[in-house]
Amino acid sequence: MTSFPIVELIDVWKSYDGTQALRGLNLEVNRGEIFGLIGPNGAGKTTTLKIIVGLLKMDRGIVRVNGVDISEEPYEYKRLIGYVPESVSLPEYLTVEELLIYAGKIRGVPDNQIRERMNYFIRLFELSEKRRALILSLSRGMRQKTAIASALIHDPDLLILDEPFIGIDPMGQHVLKELFSERVKEGKTIFISTHMLDTAERLCDRVAIIHKGQNVASGDLKNLQQLSRTGESATLEEVFLKLTEEAKELMVEEPIERKRRTFFGFLRRSP
Ligand code: ATP
Repeated sequence: MTSFPIVELIDVWKSYDGTQALRGLNLEVNRGEIFGLIGPNGAGKTTTLKIIVGLLKMDRGIVRVNGVDISEEPYEYKRLIGYVPESVSLPEYLTVEELLIYAGKIRGVPDNQIRERMNYFIRLFELSEKRRALILSLSRGMRQKTAIASALIHDPDLLILDEPFIGIDPMGQHVLKELFSERVKEGKTIFISTHMLDTAERLCDRVAIIHKGQNVASGDLKNLQQLSRTGESATLEEVFLKLTEEAKELMVEEPIERKRRTFFGFLRRSP
């Protein structure tokens, strides 16, 4: 059993011209857990996931996946990962079957396993009637389910999903949660970002709350209740609101303190 985290971010920084999205983000996701990334709009969740899967380059910092520094070995580690982005964009000119076969083939999955897994996911996600339909004709939720099936066709150790429940009906959400729990029992890891705090509370083994590109707190609900001093009966939502509010205050205070120091320093130096 390997003890190091499957994903590790150390002091990761990222800016988009003018916007500082990540400011020294530290994060650890353990093998065999369901880990949730939560944070207000613009906190840097999508940016973080895109950096981990290699779709975005960080400005500085270290990202390790399965112990490997992704900037030193930028390709090989991707075999371990299945990724479902926030806005799914699939080739609309393919059928569901064709997409899954294609996704399996480019991942080097043997044909018989592709068939087996494809049939399993098509049944699981109730896509049987649509298996030979063009993706163009699918509803949003069906596209999302197809994208998840396609991310799982190579049976990745690490499944990363950005807001996976958006657009999926309650039955589909239930199926997805069960699927996550089963994969975790097999030692695989699920890493999601979500705004659905009640779901995160029930589903995730641990979460990280990020705010303005920094990790404000991470751990299981008990750890977070202690950190936020909200008490044992506090929900994740209550903990989240308290910690993000405190983080906001801290971030405002810092420049004011700096301004005060500069101001009084200047006064002292003045004749
Ligand atoms: P949400 O919950 O709203 O999806 P998020 O936590 O996923 O937000 P990101 O999408 O990572 O946040 O964005 C972090 C910051 O980076 C925001 O200030 C956002 O405006 C900015 N940002 C993200 N993508 C770009 C881009 N392509 N160009 C410029 N700024 C960007």
